[in-house]
Amino acid sequence: MTNYLQKKINRIPYIGKVRENALNSIGIYTAEDLLYYFPRKYLDRSNVKKMNRLIVGEECTVIGKVDRVWTTRTRRKTILKVTIKDNYGYLTLNWFGGIYWIEKMFKVGDLISVSGKINYYRGLNIIHPDFDFLDAKMGKLSTGIIVPVYALTENMRKKGLNSRQFRKIFKNLFTEITSDIPDPIPQKIRNKYNLIDLFDGLKLIHFPKNKESLKKARYRFKFQELLMLQSVLAIKRRQIKNEKCQAQCKRAGELTANLYKKLPFELTESQKRVAREIYNDLRSDTPMNRLLQGDVGSGKTIVAAISAAIMTENDFQTVIMAPTEILAEQHYNNFKKYFEPWGIDCKLLIGKQTKKQREEILPKIANGKIPIIVGTHALLQEKVKYSKLGLVIIDEQHRFGVDQRMSLIKKGTNPHVLMMTATPIPRTMSISIYGDMDTSIIDEMPKGRKPIVTRVVKKIQLPKVYDFLKDQINSERQIFIVYPLISESEKMDLQAAEKGFEKISKIFSSYKVALLHSKLKKLEKSEVIEKYKSGETDILVSTTVIEVGVDIPNATVMIIENAERFGLSQLHQLRGRIGRGGEKSYCILVSRKDTEQGSERLRILEETIDGFKISEADLKLRGPGEFFSAKQHGLIDLKIANLIEDGEILRKARLAAFTIVKNDPNLSDKNNRDFREFFLKNNKDKLNYATIG
Ligand code: ADP
Ligand code: MG
Repeated sequence: MTNYLQKKINRIPYIGKVRENALNSIGIYTAEDLLYYFPRKYLDRSNVKKMNRLIVGEECTVIGKVDRVWTTRTRRKTILKVTIKDNYGYLTLNWFGGIYWIEKMFKVGDLISVSGKINYYRGLNIIHPDFDFLDAKMGKLSTGIIVPVYALTENMRKKGLNSRQFRKIFKNLFTEITSDIPDPIPQKIRNKYNLIDLFDGLKLIHFPKNKESLKKARYRFKFQELLMLQSVLAIKRRQIKNEKCQAQCKRAGELTANLYKKLPFELTESQKRVAREIYNDLRSDTPMNRLLQGDVGSGKTIVAAISAAIMTENDFQTVIMAPTEILAEQHYNNFKKYFEPWGIDCKLLIGKQTKKQREEILPKIANGKIPIIVGTHALLQEKVKYSKLGLVIIDEQHRFGVDQRMSLIKKGTNPHVLMMTATPIPRTMSISIYGDMDTSIIDEMPKGRKPIVTRVVKKIQLPKVYDFLKDQINSERQIFIVYPLISESEKMDLQAAEKGFEKISKIFSSYKVALLHSKLKKLEKSEVIEKYKSGETDILVSTTVIEVGVDIPNATVMIIENAERFGLSQLHQLRGRIGRGGEKSYCILVSRKDTEQGSERLRILEETIDGFKISEADLKLRGPGEFFSAKQHGLIDLKIANLIEDGEILRKARLAAFTIVKNDPNLSDKNNRDFREFFLKNNKDKLNYATIG
């Protein structure tokens, strides 16, 4: 039996050469591609307005018959007008100039749906509406009909493709395909999760009988989409777990014990739990592949140090990579403090070192004399070689590309990997992007931290804020003032910081004010930071270079300018720079835009310091694009499922995917044949380093 779904679209009725090209241009080549081109939305009684209910200024959707197609002429341009009517009234659609191909499309009596904002000028009208052609039969929405509307590109419209044509094509397709088309979701999974089969699903998603059946169809395809995505992760994960670990540790010993003993604080329960999770991984015979999530200031560094201690005692090297030199140096100083008393050598590898300095270190790393190496991207250079690299730690891992992370890992032979991130991302996102890794979470702050008081203020309140700053400085506290720098190349933002610096220097003329931004030379940068750290500087005006991990316990106030330009998670990350000592700290968000919506969003930060809650809110308010790591990743390119709403389906699909891969790692079981075929066809690019046999 040939698979009908693989039929080329040029052999499908109503698709000639012209339409074939239009469809090819959006990636549709086969009957299957076409059938997976799901409606973009559905019209029904609840979202379609009668024409006597239209309100000027409101966005709405109506369905009506074309009553009149005409043009008028102003001095400068021609206006195409199409008047439509339903049983309750009239509405005119306007197109300005040069759109003759649109005029040709309309015939009196055509049934169309239009969406747009209602205007009033000699009657109700919409300018340049979104429109689509429907079947004549669909006029009576009151009978409970649901009308599918497909996404159309201009090219498709010009080639005469519209929802009416799509329905015609699909109607015909369904007379040819049969209910035994291969279903990518294995029968067992369909039964277990109560999913309708492919044939019914396709039929209902294009020709929904009612809301209930449409919901079932959408549920099935959401599940399918997430199942495929999670299968990629399940396979990747299995691949890693299949490797033989070259750095299996026996146990922790004296060094680790000493490190614990000398800690100036007691670990939090979360830190202890995570350290145990890592310890178990390091002793297993498969490589660790773990993501450590923990809010800013939750104390991830010490957990990294403990891991490094265990590796060192077992004669393996550990490398820690951080995204900035500031942060790498900070880690290096911490690690030196932890390890040098016990005669363990740590070395730093960053770009600003001289060639000579580096040439001294590199051979020692290569012959295994140095157990702990801290650095930046400089670690990725080819000439950096190890003798027994056992653990790779990547701090603020989302700041590195997939390739960068991989190239560091590849310097060892199946080393243990610990990725750390302070960007709490919503659970649904994290199991979609990092679902191939084990996760540890530090969800508790070290004892004795005073909470950060956060306030959103408007510009006019600044004088009061400045008085408050003076009080703080007079009681020996230090201040951060942060300017957004969305892209480092944006001159304007840099200028804003420079101007801010001048302004602040004037207002605080009897205090020490410094400016920090990424355009400074590296040496200047560390000098500015050193002076601030030592308490010499009272106020540090800075662009977002300080975002990552800088630790200055005496800084108790942070002002964030133009706060509305940041995502909530980023703001949360920024304010984590303060409140690290035992003093009460303040974060002041200056909102320059006076829109209520903008301030409303910022108020979430007044209410909670829980990074996960904040990232959930960010996801809801600004969408997944906010989490740029996800964008880079390309995995979260979902067509029908939605990470905000479909968390429950995601969890089920994940379980199903991991079960399939566990029971049938090579997908060779005949019950998984159709799954395998569909999966491989659609996920090749996502599998990158994973392959299945
Ligand atoms: P992050 O998770 O943001 O990387 P760090 O590891 O830099 O946080 O820790 C922030 C600060 O908290 C550091 O000064 C660190 O020494 C301190 N710290 C870490 N753990 C504890 C703890 N259990 N009790 C008290 N202070 C701690
Ligand atoms: Mg950190």
